[in-house]
Amino acid sequence: MNLNDAIQECWRKIDEGQVANYIPALANVDPYQLGIYLFDVTNDKKAEAGASQVRFAIESVSKVITLLYAIERLGLAAVEAEVGTRQTGFPFDTVLNMEITKETHPLNAFINSGAILITSLIEEQDGQSPFDQILKFSRKICNDPQITLNNDIYQSELRTGDMNRSLAYYLKAKGVLNNDVATTLETYFKQCSMMVTCRSLANLGAVLANDGIAPWSGERIISTEAATYTKSVMMTTGLYTESGTYSVKIGVPTKSGVGGGLVSAAPSHYGIGIFSPALDSAGNSVAGLALLELVSKKLKLDIFRY
Ligand code: GLN
Repeated sequence: MNLNDAIQECWRKIDEGQVANYIPALANVDPYQLGIYLFDVTNDKKAEAGASQVRFAIESVSKVITLLYAIERLGLAAVEAEVGTRQTGFPFDTVLNMEITKETHPLNAFINSGAILITSLIEEQDGQSPFDQILKFSRKICNDPQITLNNDIYQSELRTGDMNRSLAYYLKAKGVLNNDVATTLETYFKQCSMMVTCRSLANLGAVLANDGIAPWSGERIISTEAATYTKSVMMTTGLYTESGTYSVKIGVPTKSGVGGGLVSAAPSHYGIGIFSPALDSAGNSVAGLALLELVSKKLKLDIFRY
C-alpha cells in the first residue's frame, strides 16, 4: 500500500472537521496536516508518510498510558474496582451518567471523569511526582525520550479546564477521588499536554499489539492482562460516542485525543499512530479516522475477520 496515496485520498476529509477550540492553545494548530506511522510487529518493519514527524499534544491518548501505568502499579483488580467498562452515550466530559444511574464510579477509564479518577490513583513515589512518573513511563512505552510537556498548552488547559475541575470535585464529593483535587488536576492537565509524534503513538500501539512486549527490545513493558484489558476498552469506548460506529468500520482497538492523535493496536499485526487535528463533533480526528479505515481495509486488520 502506498501511504502517500492514502493520505491524498483522505486529505479532503480535513474540511469536514474543526480543530479543538475549547482549549485555546490547540485552536492555533494548522488543520491541514495528516500523518501516519505504521509499525509492523510481525517483522519489525516501519513505514511513515505525511506529518508523521510533527509533534502534537497527546491529549486523551494519554488516558491509555495512565491506565496502563495504574494497572502496572496497583494491579488490574484495583483499577477495575475504580472504573467500569461501559459506554456512556454522552460526550467525553459528561458526568450525567453517574447522576442518572447513581453510580459512584465513572463508567469507563476513557471519559474524562474516569481518566481523572485513574490519574488520582498515582501517588508520589520516591520523591517523584505523579506527573514525573507518567512522563517517564510515556517515554518508555512510546520509545521516545523526546516527549516533553508543552507549557503553553498546559497553561491553556489550566485556564479553561473548569469542566474537568467540576468532574474532579464531583468525584471528590462522591468520596472516590484518591488524591487531592489540585494535584490530580495538575497531573491530568500535564499528561494531556505531552508532545508526541505519530511514531511515538505507533510504538505505544505496537506494545499493545505485541502482548505487552516492546518489539524494539524484547522487553516486557506491561502484562498480558493489562494489554488485553486496555485493547478491549479502546475497542468499546476509545472513540467516545462513535466507538460502535468505528468498531464496525475499522475494527481495530483505537483511542483518540482532541490534539488530533489516534493510537491503534491491531493485535499481533500493527501499532499505528495517526495525526490530523481537525475533529468531528465527537472529538475524533476526521481525516485520521478516514485514513485508519482505509489502512485497516487494505491491510485486512479488522479483528472480527478472524
Ligand atoms: N485535555 C482534554 C480535556 O480534558 C482532553 C480531552 C480529549 O482529548 N478528548 O478536555
